[in-house]
Amino acid sequence: MKFIETRGNDGIKDKKVNFSDAILSPSASFGGLYVPESLPSVNLDFLKKHINSHYKELALDFLIEFDIDIDENILKEALNRYDDFDVPSNPIPLKKIEDECFVSELYHGQTRAFKDMALQPFGYILSKLAQSRDENYLIMAATSGDTGPATLETFKNQPNVKVACLYPEGGTSDVQRLQMVTEDADNVKVIGVKGNFDDTQSSLKSLLSSQDFKNELEAKNIKLSAANSVNFGRIIFQIIYHIHSYLEMVRENNIKMGEDIYLIVPSGNFGNALGGYYAKKAGLPVKKILIASNINNILTDWINQGEYDISNRELTLTDSPAMDILKSSNVERVLFDKFGANRTKELMEELDTNNKYKLTDNELSSLREDFDACYSDDNEGKIVIAHYAKNGYILDPHTATCLKAYNSLRKDKTPAIVYSTAEWTKFSSTVSSALEYEADDDLDALTWMSKSYDATVPDMISNLFNKDIKHTVIVETKSIKEEMLKFL
Ligand SMILES: *Cc1c(COP(=O)(O)O)cnc(C)c1O
Repeated sequence: MKFIETRGNDGIKDKKVNFSDAILSPSASFGGLYVPESLPSVNLDFLKKHINSHYKELALDFLIEFDIDIDENILKEALNRYDDFDVPSNPIPLKKIEDECFVSELYHGQTRAFKDMALQPFGYILSKLAQSRDENYLIMAATSGDTGPATLETFKNQPNVKVACLYPEGGTSDVQRLQMVTEDADNVKVIGVKGNFDDTQSSLKSLLSSQDFKNELEAKNIKLSAANSVNFGRIIFQIIYHIHSYLEMVRENNIKMGEDIYLIVPSGNFGNALGGYYAKKAGLPVKKILIASNINNILTDWINQGEYDISNRELTLTDSPAMDILKSSNVERVLFDKFGANRTKELMEELDTNNKYKLTDNELSSLREDFDACYSDDNEGKIVIAHYAKNGYILDPHTATCLKAYNSLRKDKTPAIVYSTAEWTKFSSTVSSALEYEADDDLDALTWMSKSYDATVPDMISNLFNKDIKHTVIVETKSIKEEMLKFL
């Protein structure tokens, strides 16, 4: 399987690349992204073959069908990372919460957010590739709270890769911050930045484009890669759990094999939703993918009106910070898939120049064949959290945005899978506040929740509060480069 570029080829880069090249150097011509030339088939035969498969068996077979240039033994080792999930034989449990509403819990890994699903195996593969080519890579991430811990966790102590994470000081939950600053490994660096997530992200961008930083890296023989969902190495693992969740629905007799379902995805950078879209396109029986947003509802407008317009918008901070995004990167891969490289380049350039674009009526209908969308604000989210907590099921604020989609966008009684992207323990202060307890901090909220709602706090969360802090650096944006040079 070869990979091509969403904005076409510039005549300088190779027209087609292997998977390994696409993940080590994820930026394509004209600022575009890499996408596979085609997808393996997920038809009824494939689904029936895997009706009794362990998650890792399903995943390995899918990856082999994808025909990527990664040795089968390395793929197997990468998938063994799921052995550290709560229940290795089924890393993603499915829970029924309404008659036709089933929650697929994607957060049972090391950092309690769904980022582990893709980053765990991805990190292993990337480090192996770097070793086999005898190259050294630097991964830099600006994080609003979930990508950072998951990126550190997958790369810590892995050869030939260094990781630096920048987080906005005061912009993450206590648990998310502790997950980063207690990470103890020589190849990781965590820097708190004075400012909000936007400041953090833009200072990372300017650092990465500064010539003397590039010169430094070159002098030290270090190459740059990326671990955000712009990297197809993450997306490939995000197709698999949609297939697995469908099979779980069949295994638990919630649907018959071949029956359509809805997928409901709390979306930010659209990696999770894109995985669902690729699964549907490959043949998984999905009626539509319902996109849930918070008040930063750019995706709702895009899917309902065909308008992507950020010219008059400012980012609003919400209780679901991982969805606080205006430029959602993976939308571009859907544009490419539906409308081709020329049109994608045109639309993305329009977005860069005018901060907006509009799809034609035909393009919008094509988009709406696969997607529908709605959003909820923080207050609606808290009502959802309180309602389900009182019935014995605790949702995090990201997952909570999905219930409105379930109630208002479903056209009939077709069953739905809601993807739960984080455990409540990462956002315990918001959850306790929804239950009318204003906690002093996360530790207080976790303690109160476990007493009042008999909710379990896993060891990897409760232990954070006793671990040594290893990273104490907090800097102004202008001093990030200096800190990075010290680390390198
Ligand atoms: C990253 C994240 C999201 C958004 O996922 P995308 O793939 O970027 O759309 C939603 N919820 C949580 C908890 C996350 O960490």
